[in-house]
Amino acid sequence: MASKLLLEIVTPDRKVLSQEVEYLGAPGIEGEFGVLPNHIPFLSALGVGNLHYKDGGRNHYVFISGGFAEVGNNKVTVLAEVAEKAVEIDLDRARKAEEKAKARMAKAKDRIEAARAQAALQRAIARIGCKDASQKAG
Ligand code: ATP
Repeated sequence: MASKLLLEIVTPDRKVLSQEVEYLGAPGIEGEFGVLPNHIPFLSALGVGNLHYKDGGRNHYVFISGGFAEVGNNKVTVLAEVAEKAVEIDLDRARKAEEKAKARMAKAKDRIEAARAQAALQRAIARIGCKDASQKAG
């Protein structure tokens, strides 16, 4: 029985991560799911949130927005629309995006504008949470 699995995260323009991990948790559209070594084959669409993985007993965090995760053969492939390791997240930019999204929500003229602003707010809050969790993990 394998004690680790390979996690690969790619976006349309780059490879974000390729790493052996002990565990990972990811933001599926129907809720968070966890994967341990020797997991059964599995496919899930991804929402907006934070993927975290354990390596050497330490937790690491990656912001994910949309895409798919495929589990099989002790490998997890994440094809994300957008992904950033915590270290890559620009906290000031995320805070500004949060304020802008709140202002857009407050003056949205229709449901489409409100939904777009809400999605932007969700991305900003998740990026801030990713940075925070990573800093707390040390
Ligand atoms: P913003 O309003 O700041 O552009 P956004 O949520 O609209 O944020 P996305 O559409 O999710 O941005 O991403 C567009 C590109 O910008 C992606 O390549 C993404 O990795 C990058 N990006 C967005 N926000 C940040 C951030 N705070 N730190 C690092 N990269 C970011």
